[in-house]
Amino acid sequence: MTGPILRIAVPSPLYQTFDYLPPLNSDLAALRPGVRVRVPFGRRQTVGFLVELGADSTLDPALLRPALAVLDHEPLLPADVLALLQWAHRYYHHPPGDAFAAALPVLLRQGEPAAVPQPPPLWRITAAGRTALAESVALRRAPAQRRLLDHLAQCPAGLDAETLRPVVRDCVATLRALRARGWVESSAADAPPLPETALAVPIAPLALSVAQADAVATVSAQLDQFQVFLLEGVTGSGKTEVYLRLIEAVLAQGRQALALTPEIGLTPQLLARFRERLPGPLAVLHSGLSDRERLNAWLLARDGTAKAVVGTRSAVFAPLRAPGLLIVDEEHDLSYKQQDGFRYHARDLAIMRGRQLGIPVVLGSATPALESIQNARTGRYHLLPLPERVGGGTEAPILILDVRRQPMTEGLSRPLLERMRAHLDRNEQVLLFLNRRGFAPILLCHECGWLSQCRHCDARMTLHLRQRRLTCHHCGDNRSVDTVCPLCGSVDLRAVGHGTERLETALRPLFPGIGIARLDRDSTRRRGSLESLLADIHNGDRRILIGTQMLAKGHHFPDVTLVGIVDADQGLYGVDFRSSERMAQLILQVAGRAGRAEKPGIVIIQTHHPDHPLLRVLVSEGYPAFAAAALAERQEALLPPFAHQALLRAEAVDPERALAFLNAARALAEPIADGLELLGPVPAPMERRAGRYRAHLLVQAAQRQPLHRFLDRWTGLLWAERKDRQVRWSLDVDPMELY
Ligand code: ADP
Ligand code: ZN
Ligand code: ZN
Repeated sequence: MTGPILRIAVPSPLYQTFDYLPPLNSDLAALRPGVRVRVPFGRRQTVGFLVELGADSTLDPALLRPALAVLDHEPLLPADVLALLQWAHRYYHHPPGDAFAAALPVLLRQGEPAAVPQPPPLWRITAAGRTALAESVALRRAPAQRRLLDHLAQCPAGLDAETLRPVVRDCVATLRALRARGWVESSAADAPPLPETALAVPIAPLALSVAQADAVATVSAQLDQFQVFLLEGVTGSGKTEVYLRLIEAVLAQGRQALALTPEIGLTPQLLARFRERLPGPLAVLHSGLSDRERLNAWLLARDGTAKAVVGTRSAVFAPLRAPGLLIVDEEHDLSYKQQDGFRYHARDLAIMRGRQLGIPVVLGSATPALESIQNARTGRYHLLPLPERVGGGTEAPILILDVRRQPMTEGLSRPLLERMRAHLDRNEQVLLFLNRRGFAPILLCHECGWLSQCRHCDARMTLHLRQRRLTCHHCGDNRSVDTVCPLCGSVDLRAVGHGTERLETALRPLFPGIGIARLDRDSTRRRGSLESLLADIHNGDRRILIGTQMLAKGHHFPDVTLVGIVDADQGLYGVDFRSSERMAQLILQVAGRAGRAEKPGIVIIQTHHPDHPLLRVLVSEGYPAFAAAALAERQEALLPPFAHQALLRAEAVDPERALAFLNAARALAEPIADGLELLGPVPAPMERRAGRYRAHLLVQAAQRQPLHRFLDRWTGLLWAERKDRQVRWSLDVDPMELY
């Protein structure tokens, strides 16, 4: 036998690595874990990942095939990412090949060389540009050009086009037009790097508040060890400023910082502040990039050219040359948990990565997850509170508005409408939050009771009036709106319930002449439409803002003084035990949009359950008191974070099959589930979705360790038993949604 056995993670649904021999005539020194290897797989070739070198194989060596080629001279992933992926695929019981694939940009998965890219050219304002801006006459008819120039004037070090995209929709064309007028210039991609002085931060740093200074000092004193910090700060308390100071401290040591954020498209401000404050190129990783852009950003991070890296969920696997700090902004956000395939939680993995690296991890939120609050209480996390707003503006008071027996106009009560009028009369802005897009969630026959049921799901189809379609928000199926009842032929079909589109339609005649901006997934689908809506809001062209949770994130609307939560009831009695936590977080996130400037704001919550105990605590005492009450309920009921869960999901076209699989799984579990609770199997709350019947079996344990020991054995049995190929199943460790 010659040479080692290569254990290769190959993209495949199988829970194993695959053994290969080294390529013929290969340099054994090049075979280091972390390099990519081209291998034959079945009848095709694919790119795999060398995870380990082994001494032997459980297979007959004569049957092993040699790999075809080693694609990298150097390991593609640094050792810490390799270790993180190894840990994560085991913890989440996910096939290693698929887990490794999640960590790599598509082009690298396809075998593209990992060549160092050129940093993008930087655009700068010229002296002539500054003059033009000051005179402003020349720019009166070119608002886009003015916005760009304005932005560039504040960043003398220059910005790349990608950064400017959120500022102006068509930024490349606008930059070209500005260059033609001699008002901006760009550094060519191959120009020598700017001298250090030019990179120096031009913006005078803010004087920190006492709480901010405490937080910065505490973390800065422990940059060389692992510790999780929970930065709990109300909206506008200056969390971003704390992140920036800490990143600067880490950069000063010659190390890099990685910051995770839920959705980059929705937080252009965060990105802009990072770019303005931090020197050098920023690597930005998110799903809106082209494959090439993504690879470039990834390589900038790996080579250490980018000092700070900002990205969404999968950026937790971003390679860093000299990692010094990990930040998770809005750590409670659900989008950190991948909801299909490799179901990892990026916040939890960031903590594991920080532990493996021995560096601090900062979790920030105005409304931390109850899990994180509990960890702070037990001392596992170090709590850093920022209890007050900085830089002007007080927190808006929140009022509960009892709408029982109130006359309602399209879902809005009279007191709320009157308040809207008062604020609009003062030339201020009003924000209405309704977490349901479309016109109405149900179309109903008034004659016979027929409902617009989806053919594939246990759900109703939502009426989208503007597009004249009924759409299922669960499977995407859609069809034209019925004009007569398919059952009885009556034409008396009625739209029941309210969505954002209906609210917009209803408000137009009530507030004639006032511009309305609707922000939801439908109105922002086209590229650039979100940016232009935001611009209209900021310049006051639209003063009524209607939106789904898309509105709740990250935006600053200084003129919004009234926030109306149209329907808080959905969240209060949801099927999931996390419903009330989600509702509280959403309410406070939305409320945080009000009164950010000098003008005081107010928040009104419409509800039919004004005495709901958790809602009352939230409104009268704030989030920490709410969290304490909600945690007490969880403890009473032995729910997370006082228990640990894993959810085995199964689905099949035939309803019996999914349940039969889970019953068999339960039978396999019982002999080994000592001290654990097995709950189910039961059909999922929405049993049929996209034509498949879904069910699940919940495993719960008081301690994490026994749960994972059990899962190791159980999944082994499940993989070995895989008999019914009609059933799709998956395991969700630490599930965030139970359906
Ligand atoms: P958060 O991220 O907690 O919502 P931000 O960091 O966005 O808060 O800060 C809110 C606003 O307050 C921003 O406009 C920021 O520039 C400003 N700000 C932050 N820290 C200070 C400070 N120490 N003094 C004055 N203004 C500040
Ligand atoms: Zn009918
Ligand atoms: Zn459907």
